[in-house]
Amino acid sequence: MQEKKKLSLIAKIGVGFIIGLILGFIIGPMASNSPFIADIVIPLLQLVGNIFLALLKMLIVPLVFSSLIMGASSIGDPKVLGRIGVKTVAFYLGTTIVAIAIGLVLGNVIQPGVGMAIEGAKAAAKEPETVFNVILNIFPANPLKALVEGVMLQVIVFALFLGVAATLIGEKGRAFLEFNSSLAEVMFKVTAIVMKTAPYGIFALIAVTAAKYGPAVLAPFAKVIFAVYLGCFLQVVIVYSGLITGVVHKSPLWFLRGVREAMLAAFVTRTSAGVLPISMNNVQDNLGVSEDVSAFVLPLGATINMDGTAIYEGICALFVAQAFGIDLSFGAQLGILMTATLASIGTAGVPGAGLIMLSMVLVSAGLPIEGMALVAGIDAVLDMARTCVNVTGDMCVSTVVAKTEGEKL
Ligand code: ASP
Repeated sequence: MQEKKKLSLIAKIGVGFIIGLILGFIIGPMASNSPFIADIVIPLLQLVGNIFLALLKMLIVPLVFSSLIMGASSIGDPKVLGRIGVKTVAFYLGTTIVAIAIGLVLGNVIQPGVGMAIEGAKAAAKEPETVFNVILNIFPANPLKALVEGVMLQVIVFALFLGVAATLIGEKGRAFLEFNSSLAEVMFKVTAIVMKTAPYGIFALIAVTAAKYGPAVLAPFAKVIFAVYLGCFLQVVIVYSGLITGVVHKSPLWFLRGVREAMLAAFVTRTSAGVLPISMNNVQDNLGVSEDVSAFVLPLGATINMDGTAIYEGICALFVAQAFGIDLSFGAQLGILMTATLASIGTAGVPGAGLIMLSMVLVSAGLPIEGMALVAGIDAVLDMARTCVNVTGDMCVSTVVAKTEGEKL
């Protein structure tokens, strides 16, 4: 019964996606001479999509906060927490470096920017954060502010402190933990309810995207889109499937089937932070990853692990260099590997964040910042693939960490 229900949800999401895509392609070209479509239909679709996104965002902080406190308290031992933390970060870093390497190789082989006509538009660079500031920002000087503003790393740190401390004081911490456990259960239920609206939200969001980026807009960028999508595909097929087979001893299909709702939602919504409730639901319910591990590994991943973004940074840096006729030495490409790793860690899990971080990669590789304007026009289409991979990477690592902690999957 349970299984049947799940199948029908993903089937509905799939149908919503396809109808939305077709509708978008049809109404897109009509929008320019039909005020009804431009002023009513598209804004209405956007409204439905935005409501779905708002519902997802509503879940994030209370869901992560309560389940992470429970996770930290049931793991209890700070040493075990530390071990899981080190393992998680190591897997995140490893998969990201491979991702950029895939991006750089594809950028060199496919050469997406060669023969590109350059438009002169300017784009603003973002001042990169210093490493020291990034480290300092992990610690919540004002935890309530972190909760209100949804600063995920700070929320994670605060929840870990609370969970561990509540366990250390024993009986006196019981009431606090019981309340949190109940809150976590309630949030799981709210997540399940919100997921029922996913087919409609996804339908509306993809229709708006398809209307805006019809096939004709994409043609001149076919090569860079192809390169990014191929890179994302390879990351899933080689790296994640390899980890699932090699470490978890399960078939990659088992994994992909279990996480497909989150993958599709990430593809359409373009926000890994936003789909966090769905990815937590998927790995717990479909793959059997414990709440303790997933509540820690996934929010951390949604904040610092962006493999799809890393692939994109690598390919786009080469794309810009080629489009502007600049040769990049091997050393310069190694430099890109390093800055793209940092850029992907620093990228927020929201739509379009990777494009802003691309400026940091371009500047530090000595490439023209105007290159961003080249990519900007089609960034949403690239964002779909990279966000999907960002989220898939988080879910893969959470499964791997669960397995290495002896969980039965
Ligand atoms: N949209 C991506 C994400 O949320 C970040 C990016 O723009 O690369 O994962």
